Amino acid sequence: MSDFTLTLDGQAVPGDGSFGVVNPATGQVFAQAPECSRAQLDAAMEAAARAFPGWSRDEERRRRALGACADAIQARVGELAPVLTQEQGKPLARAGEELIGAAVWFRYTASLPIPVEVVQDDENVRVEVRRRPHGVVGAITPWNYPVLLAVWKIAPALLAGNTVVLKPSPFTPLATLKLGEILQEALPPGVLNVVSGGDALGAWITSHPRVRKISFTGSVETGKKVAAAAAPDLKRVTLELGGNDAAIVLEDADPKRVAEKLFWGAFTNSGQVCSAIKRLYVPERLQAPLVEALAELARGVKVGDGLQPESQLGPVNNKPQFDRVLELVEDARKSGGTIVTGGAPLAGGGYFIPPTLVTGLAEGSRLVDEEQFGPALPVLTYRDLDDAVERANRTQYGLSGSVWGADLERAAEVAGRLECGTAWVNQHLAILPGAPFGGAKWSGIGVENGPWGLLGFTEIQTVNIAKK
Ligand code: NAD
Repeated sequence: MSDFTLTLDGQAVPGDGSFGVVNPATGQVFAQAPECSRAQLDAAMEAAARAFPGWSRDEERRRRALGACADAIQARVGELAPVLTQEQGKPLARAGEELIGAAVWFRYTASLPIPVEVVQDDENVRVEVRRRPHGVVGAITPWNYPVLLAVWKIAPALLAGNTVVLKPSPFTPLATLKLGEILQEALPPGVLNVVSGGDALGAWITSHPRVRKISFTGSVETGKKVAAAAAPDLKRVTLELGGNDAAIVLEDADPKRVAEKLFWGAFTNSGQVCSAIKRLYVPERLQAPLVEALAELARGVKVGDGLQPESQLGPVNNKPQFDRVLELVEDARKSGGTIVTGGAPLAGGGYFIPPTLVTGLAEGSRLVDEEQFGPALPVLTYRDLDDAVERANRTQYGLSGSVWGADLERAAEVAGRLECGTAWVNQHLAILPGAPFGGAKWSGIGVENGPWGLLGFTEIQTVNIAKK
């Protein structure tokens, strides 16, 4: 039996089955999560559909409820953070930050206007462009930032007047299930339902007749399946998918000044960030000093169990991902790459891989071309900037990217040439509640966050009023 429950129609309900959740710091199952059956998913969908008419009617009530959601999370950070650390692996302080971020996102979203635009208003007609909610939203999340990424969906979906059925990754269901339980004190029954189970549960959601909009964050491969599942019913989709972000260091950058930010741009959350730096392009002349500075940081960082206060980086979240990162590093070694730091798992249990820097690779090598989503960074050299930009763009991914240099105007001009949804200058991973975040090409469809993200949870309605 699970210690955790589904949230169906405002009630804490045990799953019809259960499944084990592994702590990646030990490799052992440490808790049981409820397995939602198809009948229970149907019940969640019916509850969300029943709650929709009442919830969608009163905007002010929804704003107040979102504020109360922020308060409820903030009050439970101490309770939720250890659960998140044990299922995800990240250090406790980082888990706390993720939860505080979730509260911040709720509070920010509560203040967003739902616009009514007036196209024409004269003695004959008044034409308004209004925003209506979709109805029931199916929200599906990955395992790297389970709580924060869930809130990126729940908060705007609810503000817009939708009701939600949320499904976390089977690798990290627990903090999200707790979140569902906690938020019931702020929300009417049925407005937010939380279910957990395997990938099949995700597929049931994306093909469920009650769902009008799917908001999905995960891999490109699954994102394409979600888009295909949505098509027959013309469900709306927002897809936040993988990335293979390039960072381009310019000739005028000071390696000592940029090294630390580059390091954390690549290795935050042990590299398990959709928009982490995944390829680093460096002018030939700067390679040696920059790699040395990065290597010093890599050697100095403390990798360990997130529950230990001294740990700065935790394990890779799950065994398949751990095996995949090691496979890519092994392939890099075989194809002539030099492993400057890391390259092998830490001894003892758990899925620990220390920060791994690899030089001597080029495009065509798997670690460069594929999304590693783990603590292994290829450092590539270039001679000609146009060539570097072309190589950075030579990918189906287009999530984000960054350019680093002393001349900000020039760096910003180069950043504008990157084919991606977010382009940073002298920073990476600066993600704000008020700025849209999404991917070009295979990295996604639509955006999250800010007014743009909110509008993704609405349909346009033109209201045309004849005055005579
Ligand atoms: P994944 O695609 O394997 O799984 C994501 C979610 O989809 C999980 O909840 C899973 O159970 C569910 N799922 C699996 N098969 C499904 C199906 N057929 N139909 C519906 N749902 C299904 O991704 P992951 O391994 O959990 O996460 C890592 C990926 O997520 C990386 O590629 C990363 O870049 C990406 N990501 C993107 C963003 C972004 O905002 N763009 C943010 C975080 C992670």
